[in-house]
Amino acid sequence: MNATSVATTLAVPAAPPAVRTALVHVRDLTRIWGKGDAAQVGVASVDLDVVRGELLAIIGPSGSGKSTLGALLAGIDTPTSGSIVVDGIRIDQMKPDRLAAWRGGNVGIVFQDFHLLPTLTAAENVELALEFAGRSRRGRRRLALDSLERVGMAGQARKLPAQLSGGEQQRVGIARAMVREPALLVADEPTGSLDQANGHEVFELLTGLAHHGTTIVFITHDLALASAADRVVAMIDGGIDSITARGGR
Ligand code: ADP
Ligand code: MG
Repeated sequence: MNATSVATTLAVPAAPPAVRTALVHVRDLTRIWGKGDAAQVGVASVDLDVVRGELLAIIGPSGSGKSTLGALLAGIDTPTSGSIVVDGIRIDQMKPDRLAAWRGGNVGIVFQDFHLLPTLTAAENVELALEFAGRSRRGRRRLALDSLERVGMAGQARKLPAQLSGGEQQRVGIARAMVREPALLVADEPTGSLDQANGHEVFELLTGLAHHGTTIVFITHDLALASAADRVVAMIDGGIDSITARGGR
C-alpha cells in the first residue's frame, strides 16, 4: 500500500462500533450446599457479564462449577448469595413459581441427554414448551413446526425420539428451547453425547442462533468448539480463572 492509499483509507470514517450491552449481569455469585466441613461449593464469588448476541463458551474440569453456573443463569437453581440480572430483571431472589414463569418466556435450556419425552413426537415435544403460553392448539402446532424448520427438522416432525439420531434429537431439543424465542439460551454440554460430526453441526446451529441475536451460554468439554465461540470463560474450583475473547465478530 503506498502513502496515497493509506491517506485515502484513513480519510474514510470508521463505522461506529456496534453497541453491545450486557444481557446478563452476575455479581459475587455463590452457590454452596451444606454447612461447615460438609459444605460443597458449586460456584464462589463469580462476576460475569454476558453480552447480548454473543456465544459465550464455559470450559473447565469436571466439578469446576460449569453446570452450577449454567443452572443459576437459567433460573433452574437459586444462589446462596449474589445477584443475577437477566434483561433488566433480577432473578436471584425469585420465588419458585415466579422463577418458573420467568424461565418459560425468557430462557431456553438445552441438556446433554436431550430430555425429550419418548412417547411424544418431535413436534409434540416442542409443543410442550408452549403448553402454558396461552396459545391455541393450532397456534402451538404452527409455532412448533416453524421452530423445527429453523433447525432443519420440519420433515421429521412426526417421528418419535427413538426414530431419530442423537444429533437429530438434539436439534429437536434446540427447537423446543427456542420456540418461545427467548433472549437467552443456556446449553449444558449439548454436544457431549454426540459424535464429532454431529457435535459440530449442533455447534453451527448455536452459532447461527447467536448471529440472529440470541445470547448463548455454551458449556462444553470440547476445546476446539469453545475456541470458535466469541469468548471463553475458563472455570476452576467454582471460580473464573480467565476470560478470553476471540476478537472475531
Ligand atoms: P461441572 O459442571 O463443572 O462438572 P458442577 O457445577 O456440576 O461442575 O459441580 C461443581 C461442584 O458443586 C462439584 O463439587 C459438585 O459436587 C458440587 N455440586 C453440584 N451440585 C450439587 C448438589 N446438588 N449438591 C451438592 N453439591 C453439588
Ligand atoms: Mg456439568
